[in-house]
Amino acid sequence: MQVKDFPLDHVGIAVRDLDEATQRYQQLASYHVLAEETVHAQRVKVRFLQEEKGSCKIELLQGTDPESPICTFLKKRGEGIHHLAFRVEDIQAEMSRLRREGFQLLQDHPVKGALNKWIFFIHPKSMGGVLVEICQTAAIE
Ligand code: ZN
Repeated sequence: MQVKDFPLDHVGIAVRDLDEATQRYQQLASYHVLAEETVHAQRVKVRFLQEEKGSCKIELLQGTDPESPICTFLKKRGEGIHHLAFRVEDIQAEMSRLRREGFQLLQDHPVKGALNKWIFFIHPKSMGGVLVEICQTAAIE
């Protein structure tokens, strides 16, 4: 099967302090804050940054409680790249395809992520140690 459109949508980065991290990217280049949201289910506060002419976003992730997945990640590995996210048009079809291809998925069905989008994750075991998120282009209706 041929995959048509599978662009890198964003890079997720685990940080201790959203403002401090935002400042770093604004010093690096002309990044502006695109959106910010607290995803209660995952106990995480996310902030999306986008560069003037860039198409790939940066997603800063800060845990909202010490037992949250992001805080656990920070304790184990410190600040740094947490996941890569690819954008697809039909998330259900991609989920079925990737499952057929033998990828180990972390969810049985897409879940609601930040910015009102459907997402799911591929286990790092299937991706050489990299956590991969698949997100759908269209927001949830
Ligand atoms: Zn993400």
